[in-house]
Amino acid sequence: MIRIQLCLLLTLFISACKPKNSDNSIVLNPNTHSFSNLEKVMTTHLNWDAQINFDLKQVSGTATWNFKNPSKEKYIHFDTYDLTIKKIKVNGKETQYFLTPFVEHYGSGLSIPITSNDTILSIEYLTGANANALQWLSPEQTAGKKLPYLFTQCESIQARSLLPCQDAPLNRITYHAQVQVPKGMMAIMSAKNPTKKNESGIYEFEMEIPIPTYLIALAAGDIAYQPINERCGVYTEPSMLAEAANELSDIPKMMQAAEDLGGKYRWGKYDVLIAPPSFPIGGMENPRLTFATPTIIAGDKSLVSLIAHEMAHSWSGNLVTNANWNDLWLNEGFTTYFERRIMEKITDPSYTDMLWEIGYQDLQSDLTSLGNTHQDTRLKVDLKAENRMMHFQISRTKKELYF
Ligand SMILES: [Zn+2]
Repeated sequence: MIRIQLCLLLTLFISACKPKNSDNSIVLNPNTHSFSNLEKVMTTHLNWDAQINFDLKQVSGTATWNFKNPSKEKYIHFDTYDLTIKKIKVNGKETQYFLTPFVEHYGSGLSIPITSNDTILSIEYLTGANANALQWLSPEQTAGKKLPYLFTQCESIQARSLLPCQDAPLNRITYHAQVQVPKGMMAIMSAKNPTKKNESGIYEFEMEIPIPTYLIALAAGDIAYQPINERCGVYTEPSMLAEAANELSDIPKMMQAAEDLGGKYRWGKYDVLIAPPSFPIGGMENPRLTFATPTIIAGDKSLVSLIAHEMAHSWSGNLVTNANWNDLWLNEGFTTYFERRIMEKITDPSYTDMLWEIGYQDLQSDLTSLGNTHQDTRLKVDLKAENRMMHFQISRTKKELYF
């Protein structure tokens, strides 16, 4: 009985939202893992206005997108995941829209009618309880135990649970953001960042270099900043700040080694956020602001090769990116090679030899456990099959060791 009523409601809802024009076809593209039609209509810039509600564990926001429509398409398609869409305006005028049924792992496609003259639209929305990009921590889960904490992890296809977007690495966008957090907190993003808390709890961000959506990143909590030199520094909770800055004091030397090998660093500042202990992966190469696990703070700088890896992504991965996730080896392969070459320059040869040897042993171990013919052992992987994307996200950290 409930199921029938739900179906009826869904049918009514979909027909209420569906644009009248019938040539709207929105489907999941298994090659891009996206519902978007970005090869025809492509977003170019995001203006994101967001409020972070820790009590509800919810982000409410308006994503305003500039886009290009050279082939004069009648619809622009976006990816969403567990978002509640409240209102959509195209060129300032409220419009109808269409949401596809939810597809496990990929979410719902969002189709919006446009004309050939339109260049901007805004989507007012709320995030859902199942937003897989958002990690909400209680005060007890932080080092300071006073304030809650939020961080995001958008790679590979999770940005769509933070905001409606064309969530495929082929699409590159610049962004401006205004984010409101509770007073006493600081918010930081993969962008030009504040270095001090302010009274209002409202922070502004600018990313002027086009990036894929998986590199949009946000953290908010009791966060403080300590510079290491004029372009490098550390963000973390106040109680961890001095120790973290000391552990990472060689970052400028690492940056110099990377520039000697790869050319000028293009992103302006390079900072590291040492995240709370529950950060699920070792590190994430969010531009201008690497997110890293606190487990690298060993006291003897012995684990900072992880930073060399994430810094190396500033060239391979962030400036030059795989067009789709089947070719993730382009991001991770070149980066792992670059990481080892950076470590060669800043440590003695025996240490670098050890890193190569550990990498080789990990490769052999994974080949043994997976089997020589397992498809995750290939360079170019096939992520078209159902569930493969999520499985691959889980094994991503291991995958980096293959190269
Ligand atoms: Zn990597």
